[in-house]
Amino acid sequence: MFFTDNGKINKNQLISYPNDDYKKLKKEAVKCERCHLREGCKQVVMGEGNVENRLMLIGEGPGADEDEQGRPFVGRAGKLLDEIMEDSGLRRQDLYISNIVKCRPPDNRAPKTDEMDACAPILKAEIELISPKVIVPMGSTALNYLVDSNLSITRNRGEWIERGELYFLPTFHPAYIFRNRNAEDDVRRDFKVLRKASQRLSQLYDCNFSFN
Ligand code: URA
Repeated sequence: MFFTDNGKINKNQLISYPNDDYKKLKKEAVKCERCHLREGCKQVVMGEGNVENRLMLIGEGPGADEDEQGRPFVGRAGKLLDEIMEDSGLRRQDLYISNIVKCRPPDNRAPKTDEMDACAPILKAEIELISPKVIVPMGSTALNYLVDSNLSITRNRGEWIERGELYFLPTFHPAYIFRNRNAEDDVRRDFKVLRKASQRLSQLYDCNFSFN
């Protein structure tokens, strides 16, 4: 698991990235060729967004649109995600969105463990830069890799999971909603919970959310 029970990152990372400045980190990370996913995609898709608000959404990996544009969650699932966030009162610029792997897996298959491990130093640097209080793993890949491979997204979505000072609020991946429309209400509910929690967070920690 990426995180230990007390919320610390569980990996011995051989490669380290700058983690004090987003631009420096991105500049280094987009050169990554550490796994073979890079050969089959157009570019490394770094996470992006607000690095101050200590709130992260983490998906699985870029799809075709993200690979084309070089930005996370800009395709059909991303548009639905934007709409769900706005409905809850959160906006993309309030949080940081990233993926477990930064290069598009072929045919949009789920990333394999060795690919996720190869990408982990970038994710680690993003997490160190943002120092999140809340992470939303979207879908089983993110939940199982980050928190616990024994958890199940259908069983555990919408539940707060505490790891030291860090909280996880797993939800379904937005792309899952296209296959299972019943999931949409659950995801909308989870984002409303997240918005409420983030208001509380901005009071507790000096995070400057700007809501609609
Ligand atoms: N699905 C993901 O998991 N991430 C993206 O960036 C886009 C689609």
